[in-house]
Amino acid sequence: MSISVSIESSKKTAGAVLAAVTISDVSSSLRSLPDFFASALAPYIKGIDVAAVFKAVNFTGKVGQSCAHVANGIPLVFVGLGDLDKKAVENMETLRRALGTGYNYLKATDAKEIMLCVPEPKPFDLAREVYVEQVTTLLHIASYQYVEFKKDKKTWSPKISFVGSDKKNLPSIENGTIIGEAMNMARTLSDTPPNHMYPQIMADKAKQIAKKYGLTYTVISQEEAREMGMGCFYSVAKGSEHEGKIVVLEYKAANAAKKQPIALVGKGVCFDTGGISLKPSNYMTGMKYDMSGAAAVFASMQIIAQLKPNVSVIGVTPLVENMPSGHASKQDDVVIAMNGINVEIENTDAEGRLILSDALCHVQKKYDPAVIIDIATLTGSCAATFGPFFAGLMTRDEDLAKELTEIGFFVGDKVWPLPLSDEYKPAIESSVADISNSGSQTYKAGAITAALFLEHFIEKGRRWAHLDIAGTDSKIPGTTYLGKGATGTGIRVLVEFVRRFVAK
Ligand SMILES: [Zn+2]
Repeated sequence: MSISVSIESSKKTAGAVLAAVTISDVSSSLRSLPDFFASALAPYIKGIDVAAVFKAVNFTGKVGQSCAHVANGIPLVFVGLGDLDKKAVENMETLRRALGTGYNYLKATDAKEIMLCVPEPKPFDLAREVYVEQVTTLLHIASYQYVEFKKDKKTWSPKISFVGSDKKNLPSIENGTIIGEAMNMARTLSDTPPNHMYPQIMADKAKQIAKKYGLTYTVISQEEAREMGMGCFYSVAKGSEHEGKIVVLEYKAANAAKKQPIALVGKGVCFDTGGISLKPSNYMTGMKYDMSGAAAVFASMQIIAQLKPNVSVIGVTPLVENMPSGHASKQDDVVIAMNGINVEIENTDAEGRLILSDALCHVQKKYDPAVIIDIATLTGSCAATFGPFFAGLMTRDEDLAKELTEIGFFVGDKVWPLPLSDEYKPAIESSVADISNSGSQTYKAGAITAALFLEHFIEKGRRWAHLDIAGTDSKIPGTTYLGKGATGTGIRVLVEFVRRFVAK
């Protein structure tokens, strides 16, 4: 069951109240709040000495603080926003985290209806529609729980109403819900144990999404991929009992403003053992998340199908398991990609770039996209560089770099550029083939050399950016609204990119 977010009901009933307040709101004992905010709170704080309540727990409205109090039988949770005196994008992240804290508090109350009081959009420098959409999405993100394999499957799914909202806000709430629900769908796919999430199951899921939201679904089987010359993809897929597949989801815009589509390409390694270059077991735990790029593309396509932007979008996801077996590729093997490049496999654990290479060739050959963005849990190197708070962004296109970086801050899912510089190119030279799938340790910089590998499969002049989400896909510490498992990283970035592409 999913939460529901709506406009304020005329009944003015609430099982609990969540209010995000600044230091000045608290110091004035809420008297400085906007009228609608104060009048909405009035029935719940009637007869209460608010100043004394705050003072008792030393709540001053600072960032990270919260104050819970039961008044007239109704739980009130106040969360602090500080002064909201930072940059707009930082203020917004402060609000997200504060609401995450408040949401987690309220879980214990099991209240059916929550009244939500958030500040006016001004300190966040967002149009009201965008603000309401982003807060709605955040509430959905905060509500995510993965309970499939728990005996107790009870989840909390309250109805949350925006204080001071009206019918005008409904489309924003709807868009925010579309985005949040799709993100949680992707997180469920990522969190599902790998014995329950292999290529066929993912393909079936994509088919369901296509059917429900009106996308075109096609699948290329492992054998068809081999016949089409996808030797890199095939070399990984053939190692598993579960056959690999390449799923394509297509959104066709009616009367698209631009003829060429946008292509989103997502890595879908349902489990990565490393193959014959077997990972040590302490590095293997969590490798179910290696399909999070593909899950992000599924979710983005689900959202795009509902938001109906005026540009066509193709989502391509190569899906495999990377397993050691008698059929698995060996180190020293040489395989041929769809564009004829010979690749020496120096490390079978660098399989993500192999499956992506053929997917990238295919999408260019068949769909002639205006721009390609690929998204992949590609390298431990990227995770080591950025940790959990930024995804790596690699592109030679300065406009794309600028735009995607800005979008990351705007949606609250940050990306940061790494240099795609020729100096690193010798790192993937091979003595027997055209290139090697493994970057030389002399050059280190594994995230960059992986991107340079992918670049060999991008046609000259084609706009392309690569997102490495290996550090941001799951288990993010200290972010109140993200929980313990998958994050759905990249989805908001891809969707916002598509929306802005249309606007240009
Ligand atoms: Zn690997």
